[in-house]
Amino acid sequence: MTKKPRGRLFFANPGPTNIPDSILHAQAHHAVDFMDADFIELYNGCVAGLKRVLRTEQHLFFYTGSGHAAWEASLVNLLSAGDRILIVETGNFSESWGRMASGLGIEVQTLPADWTKGAEPDAIRAALAADTGHTIKAVCCVHNETATGMVLPLPAIRAAIDAAGHPALFLADTISSLGSIDFRMDEWGVDCAVGGSQKGLMLPTGLSFTGVSNKAMEVHKTSKMPKHYFNWTNMLTRPHKSFIGTVPTSFFYGLREALRLIHDEEGLSDVLARHARLGEAVRRCVQHWSGNNGPQLFCQNPARYSDSVTAVLMPEGFNAEAIRKTALSRFNVSLGGGLARLNGKVFRIGHLGDLNEPMILGTLSVVEMALRMNGVPHTPGGVDAAIAYLAEA
Ligand SMILES: *Cc1c(COP(=O)(O)O)cnc(C)c1O
Repeated sequence: MTKKPRGRLFFANPGPTNIPDSILHAQAHHAVDFMDADFIELYNGCVAGLKRVLRTEQHLFFYTGSGHAAWEASLVNLLSAGDRILIVETGNFSESWGRMASGLGIEVQTLPADWTKGAEPDAIRAALAADTGHTIKAVCCVHNETATGMVLPLPAIRAAIDAAGHPALFLADTISSLGSIDFRMDEWGVDCAVGGSQKGLMLPTGLSFTGVSNKAMEVHKTSKMPKHYFNWTNMLTRPHKSFIGTVPTSFFYGLREALRLIHDEEGLSDVLARHARLGEAVRRCVQHWSGNNGPQLFCQNPARYSDSVTAVLMPEGFNAEAIRKTALSRFNVSLGGGLARLNGKVFRIGHLGDLNEPMILGTLSVVEMALRMNGVPHTPGGVDAAIAYLAEA
């Protein structure tokens, strides 16, 4: 075994993310009866606080499971076998959601798009307008494509659905945007918002949820997909109006603390502003490195840069895994790898969750060192560009 470097693990993955000590401590709670009155009060507070992050006053259902569980819940509660959905292609996560839908017997129509730029809302409008029989039951968008570092403009997509006069439901995967990038479920007319615990909410992996609109609850009543654990109708008969089975109480002690950090200690708008600032610092750095045929931003649509994750495209002939290996084995810095067809071509810097300037600058410094050590061409001084931005902004 190779020796592990000293010092705390610097965690720069785009999920899971750093867990604040106060959340870890809160979650290390002894077992309680989930029908205990004090717990139910805490639980109801969590539901209200999470709805404030989702910016919804409609329904919320939880699942003991990672984001995939909430993905599955969104599909089995709203659709029937043979239904058609339109998936807006963004990258690995839109493809995975689509594969899940196919596996469930749903007919998947993909709206193709270049992963570096993403689809235009007008193409979505056209695809829906062409569906004169209204066979498309849902439009599925990954708000923030974690594999590529690109955000889809959900309000413009909502407007495109409306412009087509199409009744399809609007489903949004907010797993890597919630609590990091502006998202407004009710204002943007999202019918089902899929979320998870281990990204912007700074919790361990294993709790996921869906915000559900009143319109979607009506459609749910007609869904014939087999379901039990995920069945919203079953959940509504339960005391917590969610969860079939034991409520994972520890998670709610952690979630209460996460919501306290987000709403009370920092404030949601300041949380989003911090992500925007740190995301821009990372991009300034990468753009500086890109000179001299260096690594560059994978996302080529500046209006859609993600403030929670940046995918960095390696120059031709250089493997991103070498950078990740140097960072981890020599400096104890964990970076995200390239997913699916981007494996080896990109590495990803997560900048969401419990993060500040020194953590970002530390990560960028190590990446710049790793570029140097691996003989990857770049313009040195990217970290200075990030410092210059952060010192001004
Ligand atoms: C992480 C992620 C998922 C998958 O969630 P798991 O918790 O890994 O099951 C889905 N969509 C997006 C956009 C993600 O970032």
